[in-house]
Order: sequence, then structure tokens, then C-alpha cells
Amino acid sequence: MSFLIRNAIVVTVDPDSRVIEDGAVFIEGDRIVDVGPTDFLTGRYPTAEVVIDGQGRALLPGFVSAHNHVGYAVFRGRAEDIGYAPTHRLYLPMSGVITDDERQVIGALAVTELLRGGVTTILEMEEDAELFAPFIEKCGIRALMGVMVNDVNLEALASGQTVFDEAVRATQLEQASGLASRWHGRANGRIQAVMAATGLSTSSPQLLQGLRDVADDMRIPISIHLGFGERELVQNIHGMAQFDYAAAHGMLGSDVVAVHCFEVDDTEIEILAQSGTHLAHCPHMNQFRGEVAPIQAMRAKGMHVGLGIDNYFSDYFEVLRSCLASARIHAHDPQVLCAPEALALGTIHAARVLGLDKEIGSIEVGKKADLQMVNMHRLGLTPVNDPVATLVYHGHAKDVEMVMVNGKIVVADGSVQTADERDLLNRAGIAANAAWKRFAERYGAFVAPAPT
Ligand SMILES: [Zn+2]
Repeated sequence: MSFLIRNAIVVTVDPDSRVIEDGAVFIEGDRIVDVGPTDFLTGRYPTAEVVIDGQGRALLPGFVSAHNHVGYAVFRGRAEDIGYAPTHRLYLPMSGVITDDERQVIGALAVTELLRGGVTTILEMEEDAELFAPFIEKCGIRALMGVMVNDVNLEALASGQTVFDEAVRATQLEQASGLASRWHGRANGRIQAVMAATGLSTSSPQLLQGLRDVADDMRIPISIHLGFGERELVQNIHGMAQFDYAAAHGMLGSDVVAVHCFEVDDTEIEILAQSGTHLAHCPHMNQFRGEVAPIQAMRAKGMHVGLGIDNYFSDYFEVLRSCLASARIHAHDPQVLCAPEALALGTIHAARVLGLDKEIGSIEVGKKADLQMVNMHRLGLTPVNDPVATLVYHGHAKDVEMVMVNGKIVVADGSVQTADERDLLNRAGIAANAAWKRFAERYGAFVAPAPT
């Protein structure tokens, strides 16, 4: 199939940050074949099978979210106000009461929302992540997927003790390598595998080594939450500084996507940068936890930084704004970063963090056609004095009209074509209610008691 999208404001995010005011893109199969002025491309490709009029629209690369837990949408409205408690008092207890079917439909809804809002690639890491793989394959989003492992004994953890458990470790490693072997490269390479861990304080050296071995064997990346408030815990449990422990067990390097890194000092930034580790920066999520990663210092040291959504949320435009706002508040400087940089962090830089920047992240000849088209003729987006600034500061997921992944239209007229939105909304609502009912029956409230 070939497409000519014309008369659009084409925001390329290419190395020159070109914006073509009356621009066109020609797509053949899954690739972008040509980019240029509408007049020129219309004359050059008179036989395009589908012509899309982009009048009043901006065409930009699809967003790349370098960090997601789609199933955690079940915690919306319950987790945002409880500080650091979610892991121990929501996530782990919920994992014991929610069924696979419930989790699956809630994750499918979250993936559908992401696609609807212009997100074309995610790195999805979660316990039981393989549950989401069939839907990800069907709905057409591009994904790096990994089972997020730990090898702590959960009963001991509930009473505040960290005990590593060999049986848990074996099961988790088998699950993680199982997903990788069954799904890596599926859907014409649209689905790839990663090895993933929750963090350092919940991982024994043997578990991390196990992840590293599979990643090396299969040549796939690793992703792990780092520098997210466990500095003291890691020191106490493992008797080592957090990044010394990470480095000793293969969790730093140019194939590692570290997530968060808001609890890092200058020496630790130096270690991260020297190792070539990339950062999935999740400013929208972290600002609600009162945290911000010092990305300016990291970028100054040469680290690659890209944006991610993390939990609960699905409007990526909010992540762009949070990135700008949190960096400026952190620096007490209103001129830190600018709209084109924020957009690049959410597209080409995030693609680089995932090792995919040769294939996606910008509108350039030869790249995969992963695109989104935003209707600028809407309340909140007029006047379009500067398309990039208008999109970054004023755009919303709901303004996205068309989304293409791998040269296939997955969203048209603001509606997801590869999933039944209404059915998912109904079923995910019912599933979440059922899961929370069991949660409250077991724990007496919607937040489980604190570990003693
Ligand atoms: Zn996370």
C-alpha cells in the first residue's frame, strides 16, 4: 500500500529540526520514501494508492515511550496521592488478587489509549507482561516487551524483610526468557524483547547475572529502575553502593535503559555516563512523587535521555510539558530546554535510548512510517503561531486524528481501527471493579496495611 499525505505542516524532528509548512510525505509499504513540499511530491507520485489531505493538520513522528507498565492503569485514582507506598501497599498486594483476564483487558485498554494519543512505540515491562503480547501484536503498536523480575520472598517482604528466594528466581528467569524466546522479532519485528528487573534492592546478584546472560545471548537490551529511592536499601541489603552493585552485575552499559535516576549525585551521574547507560526519564509520573531527574547534568555528560510515560497516564503531550516544567523548576531557570527539545526527547531521543533511532523517531526518508497527525483547527490549538510550540504546550492526546505504525493506519478520524474501544472500556471497567472488590475484601481497604 502507498500513501501520499499532503498539505500538512510536516514536523520532521530530523537533524535540522525541519518544519515544512505546506509539506507532504510519501509512504510505500512500511517505509517513508519521500518528504518535501506538497507541490513537488504531488507531481512526483501521481499514482499513490491513498491520498490523505492534511490541511490544517500537523504531521509529526509518533511518540516513543521508553517506559510503561500498561496493566497498572488499574491503579488510576488510587495510587497518585499515596507517595512511596504504591509498590508495597498496592502493586504487590494487587498482584495476588487480580486475575490474568482482568489484567489483560485493563492492559489492552491502556495500549489502546496510547495508540489513540499518538504513541507508536512503548517499552512495556511488567510482571506477567506476556499476557499483553497477543493484544500488542493485534493492535499494531510497536513494542519492546519484558517480564519485570525480582527474586524476593513476598511473604517476608510484607513484614519488611528482604529474603532472596531461589525458587522464585528460577520461575521468574524462566518467565522472562520464555517471553523473549516466544516473542522477540514477532509481527515482522514490530515486537522485540528486553530483559527487565524491578530494581536493585529486590534483585539478588544471581538474578541480575541471569538477566545479563540472556540479554547477551539474544543481543537484546536490559531495562531496570535505578536511582529511584533505594540508595540506602541497596547499601543495607547488598553492602555496596547502588551503582557499584549495578555495575558489578551487568546492569550498567550501552544496552541498558535505566529508568528514573532521580536519586543520583554528581559521582553517580559520572558512573552512569561513563558506562554509556541510557535514561528513560518519566517526569510526569515523578513530579507527583516530588522528584525530578537532573537530566540537564546527565545530558551535559553525554548521556542519552528519552521520555517515558510510566504508570496510570496515557496523554504523552502531558509528559512533554512535565519535562519542560520540572527541568525549569529544578534549575530555577525559565529558559532551560525549549519546545523543540522536548519534542525531540519524546521522539528521536527516546528512540535512541531504545536503540531504534535508525528506524524510527523522525520523519526521514528510509525510516519506518510511524506517524501521527494532529488536527490544529481545534479549540485550544488556534492560532498556530509556531507549530512545534503550539503542539508541545497546548496539544492533547484527544487532538490526534490519525496514527500510522509500520505504514499501517491504526487510528483514523480519532478512532482506533484495530481494537473495539467501547467494548474495552466496558470490560476494563468491570474487570477493575471486580479486582478492587477482592482487594478490599482481603485487605480491608483500597490500600493494604504497611509492612511491619
Ligand atoms: Zn516503572
